[in-house]
Amino acid sequence: METYKLFINGKWQDADTCEVLYSPFEQDEIGCIPVAGSEETHLAISAAEEAFSSYAALPAYVKSDILSNVATLLKEQREPAARLIAIEAGKPLSAAREEVSRAIMTYTLSAEEARRLPSEQLNMDAVPGGERKTAYVKRKPYGVVGAITPFNFPFNLVAHKIGPAIAAGNTVILKPASQTPLSAFFIADLFHKAGLPDGVLNVITGKGHTTGMQLVRDPRVKIITFTGSEQVGKQLQMEAYEKKLILELGSNSAVIIGDDVDVKQISSKLVKGAFGYQGQVCISVQRIFVQKKNYRSLLKALKQEAEEQVKGSPLDEAVTVSSIISAKEADRIETWVQEAVEKGAEAITQPKREGNIIQPVILTQTTPDMSVNAEEVFGPIVTVEPFETWEEAVQMVNQSRYELQAGVFTNRMDDAFYAAEAIEAGGVHINEIPTYRADHMPYGGVKNSGTGREGVKYAIEEMTARKLITFQSLP
Ligand code: NAP
Repeated sequence: METYKLFINGKWQDADTCEVLYSPFEQDEIGCIPVAGSEETHLAISAAEEAFSSYAALPAYVKSDILSNVATLLKEQREPAARLIAIEAGKPLSAAREEVSRAIMTYTLSAEEARRLPSEQLNMDAVPGGERKTAYVKRKPYGVVGAITPFNFPFNLVAHKIGPAIAAGNTVILKPASQTPLSAFFIADLFHKAGLPDGVLNVITGKGHTTGMQLVRDPRVKIITFTGSEQVGKQLQMEAYEKKLILELGSNSAVIIGDDVDVKQISSKLVKGAFGYQGQVCISVQRIFVQKKNYRSLLKALKQEAEEQVKGSPLDEAVTVSSIISAKEADRIETWVQEAVEKGAEAITQPKREGNIIQPVILTQTTPDMSVNAEEVFGPIVTVEPFETWEEAVQMVNQSRYELQAGVFTNRMDDAFYAAEAIEAGGVHINEIPTYRADHMPYGGVKNSGTGREGVKYAIEEMTARKLITFQSLP
């Protein structure tokens, strides 16, 4: 078994201790992962702080070229990268390959945006006193960015943080999820090979509440960009009140389907949205509201598709559903399904568990207060409920303390516009599932789903401060 090292100031360094990492499906030992103590975390922050001014001063084209090199190297390493995701995150290979392709795109977009950091010129004579003044606004990097990432997209969600941070001239300390550190080491190696100066990217591993929290509390770290659960997000809000905080949190995404839609045409999409990567996606389809006429036909179509999913090892090419990230999470999901059934929900597909694999479950006759609706399930569970009017459907969608994105299926323009305007969410997709995400679009939540936006250009805006410069021409 390989013992991995921390990546600090351009060098691979041992930690005093390491912890064995197990694969979610086979429970194989896949490596011993260094635990960064307080000294190593301190060193990583010092390295990032020292590297900042010289890195920020580099021309845009140099930063852009480094990010382009990373995209090229990742293209060459596409297959090993996908296998790594499958092994450490239990993501079926086909989905892991999709993730790597998206990460390549995220680094490519970052390279492009590095060349065109936003700037603005102001017409100062728009107000009295502005005569003979010229003014412009530049974007300046903040300094050291602490990036804390979840387990579910270990390549692309890391790319959404370090790509824009590095494009904008910041330096970074990345603390990946404890379950998925290998992808982070893999990408650090590619950045090193791509010519990134020492200290600009550092990777430290260890537990969130110790190593992660040290990053959050250190005053030298100017921004915390966090993707993860609402629960941890809340903790960070209390701890990081003195710094800029970008929070990309969870959701229980909803879909509305009108009675004018042929449900057979969209059932595959819905099933992929609900059960893809075992539902462990922040914008998984979790709550479906369908207009009454389509209710029974939708349940039938979903049941058939759900039962056709192939369960097994993430490394098996045919598999679409593999294990939940841990036994603890699988237990929690099972309990929530049982609780719903005990309170009167009907299971359209029978709940069944083999090891840590939970078969896709479709529930109906649920109520909004059940955990399967009120909370983020983060598992292969979807609820389906009928509605009569669009006002009622939108109200049901909005009856949530979250919302990242929602999906609406109808060909009636009025209903589509009404839903698009009235749904409270970071994004609304018409005739698309909420699970849709392109890496250049603004992406983030409202309510308890977070603050700030990712999507390379938008993340760069979050990770830079506006600086105003004015010139007065003397008479
Ligand atoms: P998590 O348990 O909140 O962990 C996320 C990261 O935070 C991990 O690196 C974790 O480290 C670290 N962490 C935990 N406690 C911490 C603390 N007290 N201080 C600082 N860091 C801490 O989330 P997860 O289970 O990995 O991921 C699933 C969640 O992420 C879901 O809620 C999902 O919706 C959300 N998510 C959101 C988006 C989005 O874009 N909005 C995208 C993907 C996922 P350890 O692993 O060591 O605990």
